[in-house]
Amino acid sequence: MPSLPLSPIRTGGKPAKLSDHRIEIDGLSFEVHRSDRRKTMQITVERSGELSIVAPSTVSTEHLVDFVEEKLLWVHTKIEEKSRLQKRAPTKEFVEGEGFLYLGKSYRLRLVEKQLVDLSLKNGRFCLRESSVHRGREVFVSWYARRAQQWFEKQVSEYANRMGVIANEVKAQDLGFRWGSFGSDGRVSFHWKAILLPPTIAQYVVVHELAHAHHPDHSAKFWIKVEQHLPDWRWRKTWLAEHGIQVEGL
Ligand SMILES: [Zn+2]
Repeated sequence: MPSLPLSPIRTGGKPAKLSDHRIEIDGLSFEVHRSDRRKTMQITVERSGELSIVAPSTVSTEHLVDFVEEKLLWVHTKIEEKSRLQKRAPTKEFVEGEGFLYLGKSYRLRLVEKQLVDLSLKNGRFCLRESSVHRGREVFVSWYARRAQQWFEKQVSEYANRMGVIANEVKAQDLGFRWGSFGSDGRVSFHWKAILLPPTIAQYVVVHELAHAHHPDHSAKFWIKVEQHLPDWRWRKTWLAEHGIQVEGL
């Protein structure tokens, strides 16, 4: 992708509409998303470490660059924070006694010789068939995905009702670095990993995504909608930002 010139491109005296661009400052690369609906500029440091800016369509590139320069210290601090948290994420081994999360609780692994299914959760233990150990990750992912599908379907039907949202389809899948997404077609998706989170936090993800049916951005109105249905959303959001990364070590 070409880097954006530091002075605004002008066509016929009006600033050009820069819809899909990137600006590079101080060794950092920001993806720029412009929207007619945006009123303010906002920088986001994604969980992947990717940087993006959302801005009103009318903001000049110069103004955008000034804004980013003002926020550089904050951006660098955030990036450091994320990489520190990322390093803490453990990698799971499919051995006797290893702990695996499910809805916020850790259950120890038992390896069993005979079992009809690859994996089961019985009497507070995950039981993995010995002959399936070599594909342990795959087995766990599909178990989590099935549980996530059921759990999120139920949560969505409850909250969608209360929030006046029509959710056409619920899907648990691999969403990369996102916990959830709400499509303009009314399809709501959740990362299967969200089933590892404590229920209170996973509920926040549900309310967050459904609130996007009303407001696609993270504007003040969006957070008001979240607050209406989850008055204590703030600590849940903070918890997710600080600890959510730890559920990734599978
Ligand atoms: Zn969101």
